Amino acid sequence: MEDCLFCKIAEGKIPSTKVYEDELCYAFLDINPLAPTHILVIPRRHIDSCAVLTQADEALIGHIFTVIAEIARQQHLDNGFRVVSNAGEEAGQTVKHLHFHILAGRPMTAKMNDRMA
Ligand code: AMP
Ligand code: ZN
Repeated sequence: MEDCLFCKIAEGKIPSTKVYEDELCYAFLDINPLAPTHILVIPRRHIDSCAVLTQADEALIGHIFTVIAEIARQQHLDNGFRVVSNAGEEAGQTVKHLHFHILAGRPMTAKMNDRMA
């Protein structure tokens, strides 16, 4: 997609620090890391966010999660890691190309069982 930052990164038109790549996806270091390890995994094909996924994307998303597990092994994220995908404004999505954050290397403060204030 034209004028999409992550499409350009996947095509190598904008530089990034590659962590992993194959024919379906690309992984690179987040430019503004929120944890000692902060990696982004993106499909090469432009998809706006996880909110628009359909059955046709199931194999791709399954593949991406297998890649995430492989990256976690390669990076020795043995103490655990968190996978996050923001969809839409209220969730804080700033780049409108589906991406999965892999965060690791510090305790994650917001727990899944935190209650709403
Ligand atoms: P989100 O806020 O969920 O849309 O995440 C977008 C992420 O992309 C943020 O964590 C940014 O730091 C990261 N980011 C933005 N531009 C770049 C870039 N050129 N290279 C690597 N990461 C980037
Ligand atoms: Zn894109």
